[in-house]
Amino acid sequence: MRLHTQKRILVTGGSGFLGSHLCKRLVNEGHDVLCVDNFFTSSKENITELLDRPNFELMRHDVTFPLFVEVDEIYNLACPASPIHYQHDPVQTTKTSVHGAINMLGLAKRIKAKILQASTSEVYGDPEVHPQKEDYWGHVNPIGIRSCYDEGKRCAETLFFDYNRQHKLRIKVARIFNTYGPNMHPNDGRVVSNFIMQALQNQPITLFGDGLQTRSFCYVDDLIEGFVRFMASADDVIGPINMGNPGEFTIKELAEKVIELTGSKSKLSYEPLPSDDPTQRQPDISVAKSTLNWEPIVKLEEGLKKTIPYFETLLR
Ligand code: NAD
Ligand code: UDP
Repeated sequence: MRLHTQKRILVTGGSGFLGSHLCKRLVNEGHDVLCVDNFFTSSKENITELLDRPNFELMRHDVTFPLFVEVDEIYNLACPASPIHYQHDPVQTTKTSVHGAINMLGLAKRIKAKILQASTSEVYGDPEVHPQKEDYWGHVNPIGIRSCYDEGKRCAETLFFDYNRQHKLRIKVARIFNTYGPNMHPNDGRVVSNFIMQALQNQPITLFGDGLQTRSFCYVDDLIEGFVRFMASADDVIGPINMGNPGEFTIKELAEKVIELTGSKSKLSYEPLPSDDPTQRQPDISVAKSTLNWEPIVKLEEGLKKTIPYFETLLR
């Protein structure tokens, strides 16, 4: 028998980097968690410790196909998130964002579940407004190599808001800014995982362009806390809400910090900048602060110190 406080929660993309942390948090809170994943960018490793927990269930499923389950809440995270992963099969990336959103929204509508979408700062593209607030409509190339992801996520947001207006669905749209931590795929090419892996092996640190482009890095535990607060918020809090750490760093600063913290002998190596790479990115999180009473507490150096041992273990 389920307890009054226990919810049935579906996490799509649940074995990925963010999904695995979210599943762990929800299982530890006693909820009945259904993790759905097709293992495109992850493996079961991230959730091995949950497999024998009675309130955790794993289902291999591709969200571009309909899903018939009964739950109270849905976190829709399924989508490759790193540029090399989402550019590997761009048509599938758009399908995952758009068909995946349609399928999960259809499911939420049928079972009257609350649904949270893992959207992204990429909806702002290469922003002309700094820092980015939720009312900024973005500056996105619709036909470039990042478009499958950026436009797929933008279309998913449109679908979420139309299901809310048309079908009164209870939605929550979180725009996530660069998040890092243990369980990132070591070869996903994202800057934090790449730099730590390179530094630990004393290989050149690959700085794309002049390394002066900026990103704002959020530690995973902070983000998951934001997700859970957003899901628990009143039904009229639908977003979009920026979720990220406003601490902004150049990519070169990040490289130097990683070299220092790993004690690496790595040298900086300048490589060509990929096309449409955003020049700057920093979230304005005043909406998250005022509506969810949420803001990140883990500073970059502290978060990197928690992340480096994970990659050291992988290399061993
Ligand atoms: P990830 O690649 O580690 O996880 C994505 C998960 O989705 C993987 O387990 C993958 O196998 C699964 N997946 C992919 N396509 C699927 C499909 N068709 N059906 C079922 N499962 C599928 O990435 P992540 O960093 O954990 O990102 C999770 C979500 O958060 C993504 O939607 C991403 O766009 C969003 N997001 C993440 C960040 C970040 O910095 N980590 C930033 C912005 C947005
Ligand atoms: N980057 C880099 N070297 C790398 C990987 C990434 O200089 O080995 C840069 C990349 O060009 C971008 C930033 O780091 O400017 C963040 O890249 P990531 O792929 O992590 O995320 P996104 O560009 O999607 O924010």
